[in-house]
Amino acid sequence: MDYKYNELDYAKSIYENGFQSEQHKPTELRLVATYMRRILDYKPKRLREEMYKWCESHILGYERELYYKRINSAINKACRKGSMLVNVKSIDFYKYEMDYINNLYIMNDIEGQEESKYSYECKKLLFTLLFKMKINKFITETKSTEPDFEYKGKYFKGGQKKYTELKKLAKLPAKIRINEDIINTLWINGLISPIYNGLVKLNFMEEIYGIEENGDLDGTIVLQIKEYDRIGWYYDYYHQDKRITFCKECGKIFRKKSNRQECCSDECSKKIDREKAKERMKTLRNS
Ligand SMILES: [Zn+2]
Repeated sequence: MDYKYNELDYAKSIYENGFQSEQHKPTELRLVATYMRRILDYKPKRLREEMYKWCESHILGYERELYYKRINSAINKACRKGSMLVNVKSIDFYKYEMDYINNLYIMNDIEGQEESKYSYECKKLLFTLLFKMKINKFITETKSTEPDFEYKGKYFKGGQKKYTELKKLAKLPAKIRINEDIINTLWINGLISPIYNGLVKLNFMEEIYGIEENGDLDGTIVLQIKEYDRIGWYYDYYHQDKRITFCKECGKIFRKKSNRQECCSDECSKKIDREKAKERMKTLRNS
């Protein structure tokens, strides 16, 4: 589960079933405490008692002295003003955002003015970065205690690992090099500017914010993103890539390996086969 974007579901699942992974313990403990505070509405005193109880039954070899500090920290964070569990149901893309990206002319170099052979992949990466800014905006603004707060993200930062993750998220072909081929091309075109150590300023975001300020936008929703780990496929889908489709069984977006494939996984195909068999039986019985 992508816990960052489905905190509420994730917290509920930890609360009910125990820790989901070893590494996430401090985060998971905070999520359990926040769940108890915000969803079950336990006041601080009760919250502390319930946390001790929960830990006793979910931590192997639990000793209060060993976990005292960690539990305290989780409780403090859960009780903080503005602490909240957010589920992001979908991230919507508007016509004017897609038009902005699609109308860009991405060059190989400024002098030759020839279109870059990475143009499509560059746009796909911009789309993915725009998605990241949009989901951060949703979460930050939902959690903000200031009603007028407006998030205007325009930076991306990370080491090699973060860039590899970004490439994966954007579903770029394996042979494409994210730094040399894509980031560099976007830089030449002034769409982003590297600052230092993997920090890049997203100049194109400033342009989008500028367009938004000018008003008169086509705010038709043209894409609704519901799976947050395969963003690039939505871009392909928007561009009518026939291989990208939605699973007949679970509705998730996926990339077909063959023309006839209807489901995202074997699990989903089996389910649909069983349902079809059931339907056949029913028709036979009724005839
Ligand atoms: Zn499926």
